[in-house]
Amino acid sequence: MAFAMHINMERCTGCNNCVVACPVNALELCTVDPATTDKIYQVQNGKAISLDVNKALCAGCGVCVEACPYSVIKLVASQAPVAKAAEEGH
Ligand code: SF4
Ligand code: SF4
Repeated sequence: MAFAMHINMERCTGCNNCVVACPVNALELCTVDPATTDKIYQVQNGKAISLDVNKALCAGCGVCVEACPYSVIKLVASQAPVAKAAEEGH
C-alpha cells in the first residue's frame, strides 16, 4: 500500500456516506460494545463508532475522502523510496 489512511473519529457523525461511496466496499462502520468490544452494525447517535478500512480491498482512490462532509478521512502518501534515494544522493 503506497498510502496511509488517517481517520479522525472525533469528527465522524456516522452518516455512512463514505461506506456507500466506496466502490469496493472496503469501509465498515459500526459501534463497539463497551463491555465485549464486539462490533454492532448499527450506529447509535454517532457514539462509539468505529470506521474500519479493509486495506486488502482499498485502492486509495480517494472517493471516500470526497464523500465525507466532515473531513474525517485523509489519504496520505507514504514516503516513496525513489524520493528517499534522491535525498541521499546529495
Ligand atoms: S480510498 Fe477508495 S477504495 Fe479506499 S476506502 Fe476510500 S473509497 Fe474505498
Ligand atoms: S462520511 Fe465521514 S462523517 Fe460520514 S460516516 Fe464516513 S467518515 Fe463518518
